[in-house]
Amino acid sequence: MSELDDQQLAAEIAQSTGDKLVGLLQNPRTSRRGFSGLEYEGDAMAHHHIVDCLRAARPSDAVLSEEGIDDPSRLKASRVWIVDPLDGSSDFGYSPHWAVHIALVIDGVPTAAAVAVPGWGTTWATEPKPAPITSKVGDRPRIVVSRSRSHYDGRLLQEALNAEVVAVGSAGVKAMAVVRGDVDAYVHSGGLYEWDSCAPVAVARAAGLVCCRTDGAKLEFNKPDPWSPGLIISRPELVDDIVDVMT
Ligand SMILES: [Mg+2]
Repeated sequence: MSELDDQQLAAEIAQSTGDKLVGLLQNPRTSRRGFSGLEYEGDAMAHHHIVDCLRAARPSDAVLSEEGIDDPSRLKASRVWIVDPLDGSSDFGYSPHWAVHIALVIDGVPTAAAVAVPGWGTTWATEPKPAPITSKVGDRPRIVVSRSRSHYDGRLLQEALNAEVVAVGSAGVKAMAVVRGDVDAYVHSGGLYEWDSCAPVAVARAAGLVCCRTDGAKLEFNKPDPWSPGLIISRPELVDDIVDVMT
């Protein structure tokens, strides 16, 4: 895989990890489901596959994975892969709402990325870029929020913007729902980790969407603490209204 460029490599690893996870669902090695079995098996298998691929193709790059031990040498590295091997793992085996996130950050800027959503049969990437959305935002903006925040974010957005709100799991799936035009924005006020947001943000930006914190501030990546306060991924014409509601 070392012959692939960064964009191709991100897409290839996201796709192959998704394929391996689908294979695991079809032939689970554990009979236990849910918190005690399948999702942990998926997390571990996907993490090891991604790390093996990156070690082989880009041996000098740093890696920050949700499932790995954080190596502080990444803070001195220019090239850092930020990955979530299985995003939305509590849905793994229960719904199509789980994803694989692969992003390369160069000097803090997401540069090449891919998000695979095997349950929807698609891998989105920064290259080739997703098709731009050409439809207009309707009278009632459609906004996806996290299930854990739906009673808070969902109610705020419903009341202030008369939004139609839906709640699903997986940051990657919510972001790709905006990319494919199912909804107009994804809003999450509760904080999340860089591996939740990095690849989805890079792909969403490639699709012409605007990504920022819920207070409108710029997103930063490869920080010492990978926790980030809130995320908006939105059609450009809606983002100012959403920031007003959320701050
Ligand atoms: Mg995960």
